[in-house]
Amino acid sequence: MEIIPIPCLTDNYAYIINDQTSKIVGVVDPSEAAPIITFLKKNNLKLNYILNTHHHYDHIGGNLELKKTYNAKIAGFITDKDRIPGIDIFLKDEEKWKFGNSSVKILHIPGHTLGHICFFFEKEKVAFTGDTLFSLGCGRIFEGDHNQMLISLNKIKKLPLDTKIYCGHEYTFKNAEFCIKYDDENIDLKKKFKEIKKLRLNNLPTVPSTLKDELKSNIFLRCDQNDLKIKLSMKNEEDFKVFKKVRDLKDNF
Ligand code: ZN
Ligand code: FE
Repeated sequence: MEIIPIPCLTDNYAYIINDQTSKIVGVVDPSEAAPIITFLKKNNLKLNYILNTHHHYDHIGGNLELKKTYNAKIAGFITDKDRIPGIDIFLKDEEKWKFGNSSVKILHIPGHTLGHICFFFEKEKVAFTGDTLFSLGCGRIFEGDHNQMLISLNKIKKLPLDTKIYCGHEYTFKNAEFCIKYDDENIDLKKKFKEIKKLRLNNLPTVPSTLKDELKSNIFLRCDQNDLKIKLSMKNEEDFKVFKKVRDLKDNF
């Protein structure tokens, strides 16, 4: 299975999933149709499925044009059936959905939006996390609350360590600057920041990250760690309070 990031709009990624064995092709979160069509044409591919992590325009903007062009089927979370244009497949939490020969586990991860999901390709250990988990960051809380978002991130934290994380935006450099500001003694983070700088200087994507890297370096996944709590003068505080503090700091960064 091949996964190709397609830069869209200013800092979005859509992802082409090309499963050569089953000849099934999908696209995750196409904010616009044109760059997807260009890629598919150039590589002589059709499109079977559109996978939406959530209903925001910068994740579904290309849905209808792609559906019309390729007769593709659109998969999204059931409660967002009125907000995802062209939806055909109504996914549920914990459901296992078939994509070609792959089993895709659906994780409901509300917080950024109420109907946000993660597509986890079990055998391939690939997770599309949309705007919930970014590399070195997490999404803004628009529809849910902080508690929901923390629970959602904790669900992702339970995936296998070598899971590849494909997120919705190239925010990694700015996220890294924020992490470094409040977690400046984190050696793993410093190392990751160096790699990120190098990639971005060459205009290369920082995706995929791995869950293992994120657990060590992403401040939003470290809100249960004592060293970070001490650093933020929040020793013995609940994880939820630490998470809220960090999210608020990021909102004003
Ligand atoms: Zn969004
Ligand atoms: Fe987005």
